[in-house]
Amino acid sequence: MRLLLLAAPGGGKGTQGERLASHFGVRHISSGDVLRAAASDGSPAGREVAAYQQRGDLVPDQIVFELLVPVVAAAVAGGGYILDGFPRTVPQAITAADIGARLDLTLDATIYLHVPEEVLVQRLLARARPDDTPDVIRHRLEVFTDTTSPLIEYYRNRGILVEVNADQPPESITEEIVSRLPAS
Ligand code: AMP
Repeated sequence: MRLLLLAAPGGGKGTQGERLASHFGVRHISSGDVLRAAASDGSPAGREVAAYQQRGDLVPDQIVFELLVPVVAAAVAGGGYILDGFPRTVPQAITAADIGARLDLTLDATIYLHVPEEVLVQRLLARARPDDTPDVIRHRLEVFTDTTSPLIEYYRNRGILVEVNADQPPESITEEIVSRLPAS
């Protein structure tokens, strides 16, 4: 199983990523977690990643691909992945599709977790991540609207988008996703 999870910050990508990964017995890969791990390694490159994350800006593509491609390749070898937080832009999606095509890999679906904005903000303010301050939250929501949300149309046009109401209890969301996935 190879799935992408697309959602605004606070949309529940992390929670559904874990739940779906355990349901399908594949690896959950959060690009934010992979980048946070790199950010805390104390290296100059790590400090650069940390600065982007603290501001709520996207980390440059070159760094993202360098860190993420080996993790995804290892997951593919292990049977698949639930990828949350990547791709975050249409150019990232195009590059990822090129890499996938070269490796003869297809995506089963992209799940869009849809949540009203006021619920997103409440959820984010209830967490305690350093990038969950009101100003940075506002900026991350803008980045989602401007740069990431065009991916909804991008994947819809490819016929693989599954849009789910994610303002429900986590178990109901997982159930809905699983029931709506194409039969493989
Ligand atoms: P997340 O954990 O998905 O909320 O991501 C936290 C932060 O990690 C984002 O605000 C970005 O700074 C960075 N990030 C995560 N995924 C990506 C990506 N695919 N491209 C660029 N930056 C990313």
